[in-house]
Amino acid sequence: MAKKGQRQALPMVALRGLVIFPYMVLHFDVGRDKSIAALEEAMANDQLVFLCAQKDIRVEEPDTGDIFEIGTLSKIKQVLKLPGDNLRVLVEGINRARIVEYLDNENYLMVEVEQYEETFLGGGEVDVHTEALMRTVLTMFEKYSKQSNKISPEAMVSVSEVKDPGQLADIVASNIVFKFDDKQKILECFDVAERLEEIIAILSRELEIANIENEIVKNVKKQIDKSQREYYLREQMKAIQKELGEGETIQSEVEELKEKIEKANLSEEALKKAEKELSRMEKMSAGSPEVGVIRSYLDWIIGLPWGVETQDNMDLSHAAQVLDEDHFGLEKVKERILEYLAVRKMKNDMHGPILCFVGPPGVGKTSIARSIARALDRKFVRTSLGGLRDEAEIRGHRRTYIGAIPGRIIASVKQAGSLNPVFLFDEIDKMSHDFRGDPASAMLEVLDPEINNSFRDHYLDLEFDLSKVMFLTTANSTDTIPRPLLDRMEMIELSSYTENEKAEIAKRHLIKKQSEEHGLKDGMLDINEGALSDIINLYTSESGVRNLERSIANVCRKAARELLETGASGIRVTRQNLYKYLGYPRYRRTKAGEADRMGVVTGLAWTAVGGQTLPVEAMVMDGTGRIELTGHLGDVMKESAKAGISYIRSKHNELGIDRDFYEKKDIHIHCPEGAIPKDGPSAGITMATAVVSALTEKPVRKDVAMTGEITLTGNVLPIGGLKEKVLAALRAGIKTVIIPKENEKDIYDLPPGIRRKLKFIMADDVMQVFDNSIVK
Ligand code: ADP
Repeated sequence: MAKKGQRQALPMVALRGLVIFPYMVLHFDVGRDKSIAALEEAMANDQLVFLCAQKDIRVEEPDTGDIFEIGTLSKIKQVLKLPGDNLRVLVEGINRARIVEYLDNENYLMVEVEQYEETFLGGGEVDVHTEALMRTVLTMFEKYSKQSNKISPEAMVSVSEVKDPGQLADIVASNIVFKFDDKQKILECFDVAERLEEIIAILSRELEIANIENEIVKNVKKQIDKSQREYYLREQMKAIQKELGEGETIQSEVEELKEKIEKANLSEEALKKAEKELSRMEKMSAGSPEVGVIRSYLDWIIGLPWGVETQDNMDLSHAAQVLDEDHFGLEKVKERILEYLAVRKMKNDMHGPILCFVGPPGVGKTSIARSIARALDRKFVRTSLGGLRDEAEIRGHRRTYIGAIPGRIIASVKQAGSLNPVFLFDEIDKMSHDFRGDPASAMLEVLDPEINNSFRDHYLDLEFDLSKVMFLTTANSTDTIPRPLLDRMEMIELSSYTENEKAEIAKRHLIKKQSEEHGLKDGMLDINEGALSDIINLYTSESGVRNLERSIANVCRKAARELLETGASGIRVTRQNLYKYLGYPRYRRTKAGEADRMGVVTGLAWTAVGGQTLPVEAMVMDGTGRIELTGHLGDVMKESAKAGISYIRSKHNELGIDRDFYEKKDIHIHCPEGAIPKDGPSAGITMATAVVSALTEKPVRKDVAMTGEITLTGNVLPIGGLKEKVLAALRAGIKTVIIPKENEKDIYDLPPGIRRKLKFIMADDVMQVFDNSIVK
């Protein structure tokens, strides 16, 4: 092997973009005349040639300054003539050498070179540092070869067997692909450790680049794979659907829905959701049950009146006219409504308190709400909350439930077809709550104008604006309305109708309405006054006019049939022929014919469904002074019975009762219709009268009814609901009503007709009650 410092004159070939390392075998093509001449010279001698890279590959005739100083002493192994004058040579690198001097030669480049001996060449000890460098190079090269896939496993094995560090560096360098400049740099590294370090730096960069390259390829491939996969699956699905004859339907349905969604003016959130569902649907087969679920969900969304509003008619005189047209009487109620609308108009804001119409059934609560909608030119929807105990009824079920649908709010708004309907909640006092949640709290949210602009139904799972809806409610009584709801509402009371009012309502509205509904033209049906009065008194007994309307409907139905069967041109309904249309009366006109009875008194009660007569019975038997109270009585009522008895004990002398009755007699007080709970203090004087009548064995006048609270000392205290009670008394054929003195002012609120029909006795002491009701 050449020794350091050994000089030698050799022909040289300038390489373009190529570096040859010692131990490297390589072939390249030669075309330049000078290069060919140099090779021929070498072949003629000892086949040794100096190969050295030129700095700029574009230079055709490189001069001394254009060529690097360091190159490789190489041996030519083979020369092949190629077509044209080109040669292909196979060479093997032998040793590094430096050009000392260019020698004169016309035909080719001739140089004197000096060789270098490498530190470890020829088997010196490898130090630890160099060993570590070698191992690093080996592992990195292994990684590199795995990643690049360009190096054969055999080459790997032979590389790993190299013991000489310089040789290892050169072999590795010749096996990795990297920049020409870097290669020259390695070639110029005479120090072996330095050379190894240089290779490590290059390898680690190459590995890094390869890593990134891999990553990029993987990502691109993934993307391509995914879209190819989807495309492929979709095509396959289409083929299957076509085979099953389904493809068309779902695709056309998707198109149709897409069009509807575009037209529906959805909120941003709704649009996003709808589009997402649609793209899910697109991927499904027509037979999948999910398709139906998505379809109905989208139908719900599309069906809602996004952005649809009706124009309010805020003309108050128009409103007044509509209210009058639709309803007879109800003056105070109409006034309150007009005031309410006036305030809304003044404030230019429809967010007022929520009106709640309170009163017994059939007095026109629902229909007045409907009139408000008509007056404002708004749409009208109603939903009854009676018996509602499940919160989901209001807010809907989540879509995860099978068969889930939206709650009543959303369903009604859809039905209304506008964002600002008049929305009536009937029977808000009849909601209850149990384990399925508290509908009242959901209602609070719905009715609160601060938050109902983003009402969220569980099914839709979208925000929906309810702030433009005008909410109204009805209730029979305010007792059972939860407090927070009650606070949010403004009560408007509607009370029972008198007989005259009922007759007027029938004449002006109900008969006309029912005739039209049954196809009867003007003049075909005439119900005269007498017949109407009988329908009101003998066929119905109610606070409102619901049954009256139903009875009139019955008459209309029968009349229609009769007209067709007999060919008559009109029918006149009178007292005499009324039974033909309604059958026999359900109530008797008066109970005057009945005898006065001992211990039986007619009380008057006020319930959620209006006023009622409340019979109280008392019986006295020999016994030990026990007091029995039956008929589902509440605590207040029981206590007021006991107070009455104590008062009677204290006045036994004046009343003519044995003084030891409380030891020797048992008293039993009973209120029939035991299934209905009764409570309140207003039956106090009634129970006391019944007991006195039973103890004195004197009957009570049948045509007298009474109401009033009693104190221990016999005072009569005022009561509520006088109008309802008085009307109930009238319906029951009572002639005289005993009321507390303090309620006298309420009499003037009664319609004059009523005041004239009844005799009122004002009592402030219970003795006056006994005097006027117990027969002497
Ligand atoms: P509520 O809601 O109080 O139970 P509705 O509004 O259902 O009562 O009334 C029952 C029927 O009686 C309806 O057909 C209604 O139009 C009619 N009605 C009630 N009050 C009046 C009135 N003052 N004038 C005309 N019709 C009335």
